[in-house]
Amino acid sequence: MFIHLLAGSLVFLLFGKFFDFEVGRMYLLLGAFWGIVPDPISYILSWAVKFNKWSHTHRDNFSHSIFFPGIVLVIAVLLDYKMVIAVGVAMLTHPFLDLIGIGWGVKLFYPLSKKTYKMFYRGRVLTAWNQDEVDVEADKFGDDDWVRNIYFRLNVIGASEWLSLAGFLLLVAMY
Ligand SMILES: [Zn+2]
Repeated sequence: MFIHLLAGSLVFLLFGKFFDFEVGRMYLLLGAFWGIVPDPISYILSWAVKFNKWSHTHRDNFSHSIFFPGIVLVIAVLLDYKMVIAVGVAMLTHPFLDLIGIGWGVKLFYPLSKKTYKMFYRGRVLTAWNQDEVDVEADKFGDDDWVRNIYFRLNVIGASEWLSLAGFLLLVAMY
């Protein structure tokens, strides 16, 4: 969750240097917005906010597909508009982070393929799941209290999330 804020703002920082944009606080916040925007969009599309073991279902739509930021990137190339490229790349960090982070992965190629992809899970580098398999996994290993267990108990993902938030806030504060 928080890592999306950091990733989006870092992409904007990078493109700021690269394209010579003026990097300021608002600019970095904008990057963070584009990094996390697939989540609110997915909640709107799926019309459900669940903070239990079924919260991964919010990713089961176009919002977490690489084609979503991909469309933004194609528009950017057609228009040759630097800012849109930065937006597209910031958004693209989202599905790839969700590939590794909390949950069962993402439907990277939705709607072309409804398979859910997950990296580094149970000793496998890449797992490609059908919906049924994801649901079985979520039912078996899902955590109805993941918000508390990840964010308020000591663990690697939780720690990296809080560090991401701290890094993001620090970055914004520096400008
Ligand atoms: Zn997400």
